[in-house]
This record gives sequence, C-alpha cells and structure tokens, in this order.
Amino acid sequence: MKTIYEISRPGRRAASLPCSRVDESFCQMSQLPPELRRAQPAELPEVAEVDLVRHYTLLSRMNFGVDVGTYPLGSCTMKYNPKFTEQAARLPGFAGLHPLLPQLRRGGLLAQGALRVIHELEDLLKQITGMDAFTMQPLAGAHGELTGIMLMAAYHNDKGNQKSLVLVPDSAHGTNPASAAIAGYEVVTVPSKGGVMDPVAFKEMLNDQVAGVMMTNPNTVGLFNPYIAEIAEAAHQADALMYYDGANLNAIMGMAKPADLGFDIVHLNLHKTFATPHGGGGPGAGPVGVVERLRDYLPISRVEMRPDGTLFLNYDHPKSIGYVAPFYGNFGVCLKAFAYILALGGEGLKEVSQDAVLAANYLRVKLGDKWQVAFDKTCMHEVVFSAEDKVADHGVSALDVAKALIDAGFHPPTIYFPLVVKEALMIEPTETESLENLDALVAAMGRIADMAASDPEALHAAPVSTPVGRLDEVNAARHPVLQEPEA
Ligand SMILES: *Cc1c(COP(=O)(O)O)cnc(C)c1O
Repeated sequence: MKTIYEISRPGRRAASLPCSRVDESFCQMSQLPPELRRAQPAELPEVAEVDLVRHYTLLSRMNFGVDVGTYPLGSCTMKYNPKFTEQAARLPGFAGLHPLLPQLRRGGLLAQGALRVIHELEDLLKQITGMDAFTMQPLAGAHGELTGIMLMAAYHNDKGNQKSLVLVPDSAHGTNPASAAIAGYEVVTVPSKGGVMDPVAFKEMLNDQVAGVMMTNPNTVGLFNPYIAEIAEAAHQADALMYYDGANLNAIMGMAKPADLGFDIVHLNLHKTFATPHGGGGPGAGPVGVVERLRDYLPISRVEMRPDGTLFLNYDHPKSIGYVAPFYGNFGVCLKAFAYILALGGEGLKEVSQDAVLAANYLRVKLGDKWQVAFDKTCMHEVVFSAEDKVADHGVSALDVAKALIDAGFHPPTIYFPLVVKEALMIEPTETESLENLDALVAAMGRIADMAASDPEALHAAPVSTPVGRLDEVNAARHPVLQEPEA
C-alpha cells in the first residue's frame, strides 16, 4: 500500500473553502509578521476527497479491532463496546464543553451537567467497589496506580511512618512494580503457589518496612486468591495498605467488592471494564477509590456539593497529594462509563462478570483436550494455557500459535505473560463473544494443535494472510520509524 505522500499531487484538494467574509483590514492587521511566516509552503499531502477516504479506509482494513473479530487478548479486556456510549460522549452539550467554562454563573447551568456526571459516576463506582471516595482524575490504569501509591506514601508520611517497601506478587502486571518504583519504593516480589500469591511466603516477607501490597484479584492467571482475607488482615496489622489493581474487576462485579476483600485503595480501568475502545495507547481513565482514612489525600480538584445542591471543583484540600491531571480527567471516557453503567444497572453488571467467567471456563474445558492448561482449576474471567509441551514435542512456540491465529481470523491472545507460566497463552474471551464465536476459536486452536504435530514448518511461516509477515517487534518498539524517509 502507498503512503499518503506517495499519492499526493500538487494542487489537489479534498475540500474547498468559501472566500473569507472577514473584513480585509482585520485580516491585514492579524497577518503574521514576515519573519514568522514560512519561506516555503508546508509539505503536506495534497489529495482529493476520494483518495483521502480510500486511503484511510484501506489502512483501517489492515488493522484488527474488536469491531472486526474476536480479540481474546488476556488482561486487556478487549470486549465489544456498545455504540450508544459513543453517542452519549458525542452529545453536543458535553462534547462542546470547554474545560475553562465557569462552573456556575448567575444560577445558570454551564458546567453543572458535566460535574454531575463525575459526581454521580463517583457514587456508582463507590457502590460497585465498596470504597468511600473516588477521584476521576487519573488518565489510565497505570496512572491510577501511581496516584494510588502516592496516596499510600502521603498516608504513611502523615502518620510519621518510615516505610520503604512495596510487596508485589510474581504474577503482577508490569505496571505494578513500575508504579511503586516511580513513587520511590523498593519493590519486593512475593512468590506464588498454585497460581496465587502464597500467604505463607507473604507473611514471612511482611515487616514494619512494608508500606503496602499491590494485588490483582483475580490475578493475571485468572485465579481468585482465596487467602485474601488473611493477607489483608496481616497487612493491616503491620500498618501496610492494601492496593487493588482493578483491571480484572470485570470478573467480580456484583459478586464481591474490593473494600469487603480488605483493600484500601483501588484503581479501575474504565476503558477495560466499562466500555471504551482502547489499544494503541488510549484513550483511557483510571479512577482511584479509597477508604475513608485516605480521603483527605486524594488529588485536587474534587467535585463537591454545596448546601444548595450545586456542584463545584474544590481545590481546598491541604492534605491532598495535589494535581495528577488537568481539569476533569478524561471526561469523555468517564461519560461512556457512566452511560454504560446506567444502561446495564446492577443486575446487568453482575451478568457481565458471570458471562465473562463462564466464557473463560468454557474455553478452559473445551481447549483442555489439545492444550495444556497452566492451572487446572476453575478460573475467573481469563485462562492461561502453556505451549511448553508443543515446544518440546514439535518446536512450535506460543509465538507461532499467536501468528497462526491471525491467519485463522482471530486476534492473538496475550503471550509470554504472565511471566510465571512458560510459553504462556493468556486468553480472555470477555462476555461479548457468542457461543458460536467461542466454538470457532476452539476449532481454530484445535487445527493449530494438529498442525503443530503434522506440519510445524507451516506454523513457523505464519502469518501468511497479512500485508507483512513476522516483524522485528522489539526493533519496531525500540526504534520506531515515524517519518517518511527522505526520497
Ligand atoms: C491493563 C492493566 C494495567 C494497566 O492499565 P492501563 O490502563 O493500560 O495503564 C494494570 N494491571 C493490569 C492487571 C492490567 O491488565
């Protein structure tokens, strides 16, 4: 496929603007001084509207998205996002709102509606998680983690606690240790046993230096840690705070609340659990909830209600950790989550989790004939297989399987993560795939397992149906070429 620069022809235009109706003299006045003007016109692509439309449509067809097919990328929750939430985000009263609009003017509304969305979404998330207060500011899960660890640090500083360690299980998402380290803590890894953080090892590693524990429950191997109550109790006895990575909340909504499990700080990934298309770096939102004793440290500004029922942004919180994001956070994402939660209601959200767990267990059982499951017990919303036996028997790796799945019309699962499973294939079907789609995935995985034995070379060659085959992914990530090379 050609780049848009290659199809560019001088003078071609996709739009023609009417002549300016602005007063000539005004135009002259506002003209840039000569020294600030370009010597040459900018080298922008010049194409007709039809070329423009075709170019980007073709580009989009080279991509794989949730709107194209099943996308079982474990931990990322690539579920189908209903389009009505996009309509909500596009309502002109919200989409056209400027963040510097006065919150209230002479009793008029102006930003009151947006503030109310944030305020009510905070209330809904409090009900879902059992937390006492929320901030909508953080712009992604990882940003929520950093915010949460800063809250942890603020709490300990305020109490005069000198603590330097954060405990993280070995199955953790990479952002957990990274967030703790960026916030200035030393990270200590706790080993797992049977796929979940080992409470015995945990208690041995716990001491008065531990500021907090970061956990995902269910974790990245899709298992719920049944020792969570005793882990939280031991942590609290050592005055360590329990941090809940809520990326997997889609497994337990309506069934368990992080606050009831003993967690003090929670981040949610609105883009994963509550319907915002994501991938490629955004957009997202990572609101953070806390229990009462951490409320005062939440970032400013906070949306609060005056006695007359109007809402305002309160910056007057002396113990706050300060700013983590400008204005309202990623308001559009919050708006979609709000619409999604209201549309589904409590029962609907519970069904989301139940169906997500059912789908993962269906795949665990159906794929179990031909694929080695990492932990042979009931899973939550995702299930991890290992291609270790396929490597040993046929020289076919998790990477080969992922590439072959692309040819079969599926987005690959997450591979080589979690690190605790060798040759990991981590599958998260989500609640939005039909039984037929799950069966199609089972059939494709079955064919790939058979091919591993009969024709492993064909799997090494995959993918063959894509514009490019195997890429040097490390090089592409480390040294991206983002500019059209000079002719
Ligand atoms: C996705 C994910 C994160 C990070 O969230 P982002 O929104 O991508 O920053 C953290 N932990 C787990 C378990 C995740 O799956």
